Amino acid sequence: MQIFDAHCHLQDERIAGATDELLSRAHEAGIERLMCCGTSEADWGDVLSLSEKHAAVVPSFGLHPWFVADRSPDWLERLREYLLRTPSGVGEVGLDHLPHIRNDDEQEPVFLAQLELARELGRPVSIHCVRAWGRMMELLEQFDPFPSGLVLHSFSGPQDLIPRLARSGAYFSFSGTVVREANTRVRGAAVAVPAERLLVETDAPDLFPDGAEVNRRDDEGKPVNEPANIIHVLKSLAALREVSEERIAEVTHANARRVFGKA
Ligand SMILES: [Zn+2]
Repeated sequence: MQIFDAHCHLQDERIAGATDELLSRAHEAGIERLMCCGTSEADWGDVLSLSEKHAAVVPSFGLHPWFVADRSPDWLERLREYLLRTPSGVGEVGLDHLPHIRNDDEQEPVFLAQLELARELGRPVSIHCVRAWGRMMELLEQFDPFPSGLVLHSFSGPQDLIPRLARSGAYFSFSGTVVREANTRVRGAAVAVPAERLLVETDAPDLFPDGAEVNRRDDEGKPVNEPANIIHVLKSLAALREVSEERIAEVTHANARRVFGKA
């Protein structure tokens, strides 16, 4: 079985000291590639060196909506430099409308500038969208259809948007949130997504799946997620879609290869 973890953050301080251990467990679990997404200027260098040291790690550079306020005046120029240094994706970028994070005046121009850059350089984009689907659709329409791949990470959007998003070339990535039985919205979406647009991810060290083995905890005592736990996401998707785990792994691996081919 060959698995592609379509979204994780190996550079995160909670797991950065244990890369070899995590990658060896990931390899044992069948993971062949991992898309490692940067989140701010502060971690782009770490993402680059992880990808240089480990052949399985595919780098992606982007400014996450949570960190837009900390950007430097020349952030976009620095982002372009990282993207030109190595084959890579653009991300994690997006919109977040949670009340304590929301700052549309900064998030929207930063998001649009990165979509423009991705389009110009022909790179796939990994998108974070939390409670902002209406606005997300309006902004994406300016780029429709997106030429070089669009991945909706840890997809949590309404099911009725799936056909429209799929038509504009989007891929839908499912994480540990699909493992929670109470999460009927995500579980419904996981069945509705066309097979050729389905991806799996861990978002490690976040989104620890229910039922996974706890190998480490953060400072607050919460379990820390790692790529090997992707097996729990595969199991849930297989059960929901009534196919084998091997089939989910095969399909999502091929899809990830296709969409991240330019990264
Ligand atoms: Zn993420």
